[in-house]
Amino acid sequence: MVIIILLSHAIRNRIFFVVFALVWSTIGGHAQENAFVDFVKERLKRESGTTQYRDKDFDQFCSIKTSPLHARVLFEYGAVFSASQEVRLPLTCIFETAAQTNQFQSRLRTRTLLFGTVEIELQEEAVKHLSLAVEEASRSGLSITPLDGSIAGRRSYYDTVRIWGSRFYRALDRWTERGRIDAADADQVRMAPFREQAERVMRWESDGVYFSTDLSKSIFHSVAPPGASQHLHLLAFDVMEGGNPEIRRILNKYGWYQTIRTDQPHFTFLGVPETELPRRGLQNVTVRGSSYWVPAVGPLRALALEPQN
Ligand SMILES: [Zn+2]
Repeated sequence: MVIIILLSHAIRNRIFFVVFALVWSTIGGHAQENAFVDFVKERLKRESGTTQYRDKDFDQFCSIKTSPLHARVLFEYGAVFSASQEVRLPLTCIFETAAQTNQFQSRLRTRTLLFGTVEIELQEEAVKHLSLAVEEASRSGLSITPLDGSIAGRRSYYDTVRIWGSRFYRALDRWTERGRIDAADADQVRMAPFREQAERVMRWESDGVYFSTDLSKSIFHSVAPPGASQHLHLLAFDVMEGGNPEIRRILNKYGWYQTIRTDQPHFTFLGVPETELPRRGLQNVTVRGSSYWVPAVGPLRALALEPQN
């Protein structure tokens, strides 16, 4: 332990990736047989309209064997890729640019739903089911309200850049003030591409240096790295009443589920009955008293990519 602490950051980073590669080479075979990954391959085959979907196509979609960030993104936010065929999905698990995001969003059939003065825009099928849930809730005297205005629904690539920045730079400053992050390291990562920022956060968080707003849990459970949010797919909706069991029951009934651990307001439109979810490689986990449907990417846990928080 002492020796590890004394090692320079460069060497620690190298060790991190060597360990990552070694663990993957051991478990990679299992991941290929993973029910979730298999289902996503089938789903994307139909999405891409090709009869043959090869492993290299999946690598292009998400390089889970070579990129710790891609593996983490698929594990945290990948439930959306098991959605019904009634909705469109992108052929990448993380948009690299605003142009790539716009290209995907521009070919979607969307609809808006008005909540007071707040307009929520989502894929047509998602809105259709959301409005049925809203009607059913109101018949029971309950309401479903968007959290934080219209970004509760559709987001642009730049929205995801801004929201990431609002958490990332703040936590970076706090940890630097507390002496847990070296000032020179902080300066370097501040200017780095988002992908590198997210990879550094993964390593800091594996040492207990968490980047969420209150610094108590992983940043990945409160905000996705730029380009990785389900809100870019127009299939996510943040609900103020996400903690209300009756609201959850109603949303679940219409194909909307909580799929990001500890992000209670966040619902994802999967568009299939709950009994169908395990067959799509999702598993129900309970965190802090709430349950979430997440990808059952078991072997990824072994990578220590998933902090306890
Ligand atoms: Zn959300």
